[in-house]
Amino acid sequence: MSEESPLSFVPHHVFPEDPGAAPLCFAFRKREMLVTEAGLLPPVEVIDEHGIEAVRRQYLGALKGVHCYSLELEAELKAPEGLAFRDLRMLFGSLEANLHAVAGRAVQIIEWDRTHQFCGECGETMVLASSDRSRSCPSCATPMYPRLAPAMIVAVERGNEILLGRSPHFPAGIYSVLAGFVEPGESAEEAVIREVYEETSIVCDNVQYYSSQAWPFPNSLMLGFTAQYVSGNIDTEADELEDADWFAVDDLPTTFPGNISISQWLLNDFIERKRGG
Ligand SMILES: [Zn+2]
Repeated sequence: MSEESPLSFVPHHVFPEDPGAAPLCFAFRKREMLVTEAGLLPPVEVIDEHGIEAVRRQYLGALKGVHCYSLELEAELKAPEGLAFRDLRMLFGSLEANLHAVAGRAVQIIEWDRTHQFCGECGETMVLASSDRSRSCPSCATPMYPRLAPAMIVAVERGNEILLGRSPHFPAGIYSVLAGFVEPGESAEEAVIREVYEETSIVCDNVQYYSSQAWPFPNSLMLGFTAQYVSGNIDTEADELEDADWFAVDDLPTTFPGNISISQWLLNDFIERKRGG
């Protein structure tokens, strides 16, 4: 690999011999990250000064050549003065995007490591593999990899209208594009057609891949699609949506603010194409 890496973040699982002068440490108490009161990543010296000890630590890889580590902290640890524990969702505005992305890796690697200390097959203590990011069982050789849950999210269109729904756990009045988890044995495109039908009784087709987003809440990979209306009338009785409707591009309801998630990217893409065209 003599060429310069095309990745700004190069993941790896083996601790480097030399951590470098100023490694980046992503420390978590359960799913909350240790940050400054301004929501920034504290320098490693600050973490050390407070004598914060990790229960376990993992090497994540290098961000633009700087080594990155994840630290699992005690579940009851109180934040030292000047620092705070925050859910990653609250840090989209303060934490730089590439640091937020590494933090999303960190929380998932920590959780995987913590919950895979013992073999799920025979109960033996698992050991870290040297070949890749996995733990394996010395007794029955079962490998355990970090778990990712693929989910699909879709903008279903009918001419100048888009199908949006609201789940009962959304803030009041907010609508969004439809989403759901991919089931075992199903393609992402099949999941789109199934979820849309289950949630709204709408039949759609022409499912086209749009883009994807790592979504560490807790461990999803969101696969974004567009799809076209074929037939049916909206019926949300059968499933978990509180309401769903067709909305014209010039008469959209309140949606989640900002531009951090693929649900917003899909909606903005729809608006741009319909208004532009
Ligand atoms: Zn085993």
